[in-house]
Amino acid sequence: MAHRNAEPDLPANRPGGRGLSRRRTPEHLAGLVDSHAHLQHERFDEDRDAVIDRAVASGIERILVPGWDLASSEAALKLAERYAPVVHAAVGIHPHHAHEMDDESWDRLALLAGEPLNRAIGEIGIDLFRNLSPPEVQREAFARQLALAAEHGLAVLVHDRDAHAEVSAALLGWNGRDGTIARGVLHAFSGDAAMARSLTDAGFVVSFALPLAFRSAAGPRDAAPQVPDGRYLVETDAPYLGPDRERRNEPTTTLRVVTELARLRGTDPLTLIGPIRRTYDALVGPE
Ligand SMILES: [Zn+2]
Ligand SMILES: [Zn+2]
Repeated sequence: MAHRNAEPDLPANRPGGRGLSRRRTPEHLAGLVDSHAHLQHERFDEDRDAVIDRAVASGIERILVPGWDLASSEAALKLAERYAPVVHAAVGIHPHHAHEMDDESWDRLALLAGEPLNRAIGEIGIDLFRNLSPPEVQREAFARQLALAAEHGLAVLVHDRDAHAEVSAALLGWNGRDGTIARGVLHAFSGDAAMARSLTDAGFVVSFALPLAFRSAAGPRDAAPQVPDGRYLVETDAPYLGPDRERRNEPTTTLRVVTELARLRGTDPLTLIGPIRRTYDALVGPE
């Protein structure tokens, strides 16, 4: 519920889904992955089974569910247990919630990080658009969770809103620290081609969400054809970032995202499924 505040503002010129490209989205793409969906959100409480059934029926084989605070991180782990092997969990404190943390809750997060079902640390990052936590508190929480991920050898799922330079610098500084192989994904990537290049050259991954389909997302649309195989993922960020503000988003929208990514890359969505799956497995571990 608290994550409601984290809902990104959608580009202004997308009323009711107009402006979307018209390429037909397949109804089924076997082996697809939604690399970021908050299925523990209360907006799925009524029909979570049906949402996951629809995802699986459309060919989605993995859904990575990140936390945004302690309770949602614990809930993600519970979903991973209940919906194995489709649902994977990540634990982490979103920048909006960084200000809620104290010593005791950081200790609790460190325990959750070591849970066998935990796949990654996320979502974490910096959000200078809303500043729901003071920037200094966000920075400290981000640094602390990068260290936690390195300690556990886990990937990070990174939220970056109006903080491209700062997030890039933090990740590039983190990569390779103490000889560890740092891994991570920029979720709902909103940067440009240059940012994507510098991060993917360093081994990070960018994940595209539905805004990729809108003309206003010039940076991600420029970056999309340039990111090499092995360095991109697709996601929904459900229940957020849906086709319109009112409608709840859900993992099946991943098919639309991958279709748009394929269009921008001048290829067929089918050719992206294998690379996406391998990238996902390399990031959070195969099963
Ligand atoms: Zn986010
Ligand atoms: Zn998210």
